[in-house]
Amino acid sequence: MTRPTNLNLALLFTFLTTAALAQPDRWQQRVEYTMDIDMDVSAHQFKGKQKLVYYNNSPDTLTKVFYHLYFNAFQPGSSMDVRSRTIADPDRRVMDRIYHLKDDQIGYQKINGLKQDGKVLSYAVEGTVLEVNLAKPILPKSKVTFDMEFEAQVPLQIRRSGWANKEGVEYSMAQWYPKMAEYDYEGWHADPYVGREFYAPWGDFNVNITIDSAYMIGGSGYLQNPEQIGKGYAKPGTTIKRPKGGKLTWQFKAQNVHDFMWAADPDYLHDVAQVPGGPALHFFYQGDTLVENWKELQGIAVKAFDFLNKNFGKYPYDKFAVVQGGDGGMEYPMSTLITGHRSVRSLVGVTVHEALHSWYQGVLGTNESLYPWMDEGFTDYATQITMHYLFDGPSGGNYINPLEGSYRSYFSLAQSGLEEPMSTHSDHYNTNRAYGSAAYSKGAVSQHQLSYVIGHETFMRGLRRYFDTWKMKHPNMNDYIRIQEKNSGLELDWYYEYFVNSTKTIDYGIKSVEEQGEQTNVTLERIEKMPMPIELYLEYADGSKELFYIPLDLMRGVKEHDDPSIPRTILTDWPWTHPYYTFSIPKKPKDIRYMEIDPTQRMADTDRTNQSYPWRSAVEAEGEVVNK
Ligand SMILES: [Zn+2]
Repeated sequence: MTRPTNLNLALLFTFLTTAALAQPDRWQQRVEYTMDIDMDVSAHQFKGKQKLVYYNNSPDTLTKVFYHLYFNAFQPGSSMDVRSRTIADPDRRVMDRIYHLKDDQIGYQKINGLKQDGKVLSYAVEGTVLEVNLAKPILPKSKVTFDMEFEAQVPLQIRRSGWANKEGVEYSMAQWYPKMAEYDYEGWHADPYVGREFYAPWGDFNVNITIDSAYMIGGSGYLQNPEQIGKGYAKPGTTIKRPKGGKLTWQFKAQNVHDFMWAADPDYLHDVAQVPGGPALHFFYQGDTLVENWKELQGIAVKAFDFLNKNFGKYPYDKFAVVQGGDGGMEYPMSTLITGHRSVRSLVGVTVHEALHSWYQGVLGTNESLYPWMDEGFTDYATQITMHYLFDGPSGGNYINPLEGSYRSYFSLAQSGLEEPMSTHSDHYNTNRAYGSAAYSKGAVSQHQLSYVIGHETFMRGLRRYFDTWKMKHPNMNDYIRIQEKNSGLELDWYYEYFVNSTKTIDYGIKSVEEQGEQTNVTLERIEKMPMPIELYLEYADGSKELFYIPLDLMRGVKEHDDPSIPRTILTDWPWTHPYYTFSIPKKPKDIRYMEIDPTQRMADTDRTNQSYPWRSAVEAEGEVVNK
């Protein structure tokens, strides 16, 4: 063997880094939509032409395809209507409102013709799903072109989409076009729409919207003809050349997105704020009394995006639009619809949350029906970390758990008897509460708690590595676990088996503290079923501090130390089978001022009354502060 030259070393290095960062080879279907929409604002209807180039990148031959027709949900007797009228705790925005829609208020998408490469196709409409029999099978690694003519009526706004939202925004146009369902390694995902999740292939959208020239449009994509539109889109000083006639055609293009949202209102104001090294942020809001709040939002949103890019991976588009509309906050590629009558903090909170969906819903695109917690939970976790950074600042020595609200909500769910495993399909939870608390709160807790299990820095590095490795690939739960396992060098399958696939809970306590000669024997107890690695914080009478770390045998290793300012002593593993664990401290009990399991409170321990010694309330009364 020859001594490597510099060139060989460089090649070797390239090989090693390439191997370490190898991208998963999961195939993805691809779509290229071109749509021409002619909007009749007096009837809330539009006519559309859609050309869809569909790439079958799967190893399978397809004989059918499915489109979603989401507007059909807004008709009396639809699956969404009946689901809302029969579930124990309906969404207050929906209730029985669909049932009472009149003919000119319902939504629909009617297909007037569909061709595959010029051949007329037969199809059937089943509620919100269009089932299409292909004229010719689509072979693996081939593409076809579908040409569709359709017409639609925009529903009176009930949920997310529609005309006349409660703040008077005229059009919130989400899920407004016949949309190809996703086909992935698990097959077709043409779930009937009951008001929950969206899952679709990535691709390019060319959307031309012709509408009364009084309207301003905001939403996904980049406007291609700003010199004809103006309205805050053209560079300052541009001479606007409007075509003649009462309507304007807005030409938008969006690339590598899985959806396209737009909203329109004659009263929108339009501001743009640039994130240095990041996207241009566009704000569309009505010029009523809350202008000051929306102006203040803009500077904070710039700061927030900078934080998101550094901590969660780089936002891959050059634009993000915050658009007043919808019925709360809902994420779309390159944009969000939010209600606007809010305090500054609430505006920032919803904007940050919906923007963060660009990471977990827009770019990673997990199948939210199967893994709602990997979208809402991750988003909520990152939102609260970001809000903590934006508003709370240094905590002055007092430990603040930024996720405290999520923990409370999860504990409440766990005690309610309504909890179902987070592995439940989104549409099929028994109650909205079980879905919401699991997907958002327990989902967020699952991640903050994971930072306890593997260490905060390791966890954050893993979250970014997950984003970089799996973007545009629809990762599933195992894909994420494997990233965090490789990243931390620890085994984590047990963590998800308990916390995601079951409703088992965590409760650890200090069972006994006994003097034995010159030492103290401490016995800890696992009271509930889910095992965890344990951190036990101690303060001694002389003021010194120590952290005892008890690894869990299932993890086959030790996490990094989160806070090197406190010396850490690593004890022997606690086998998951053993309810008790005893160890000795070479000091007498009188020399121990305080001890507490899980001082950072990231472990979702359902009963914290048994976790400290002496009991916590007595220590707090003396004004002691657990420092971390
Ligand atoms: Zn969300």
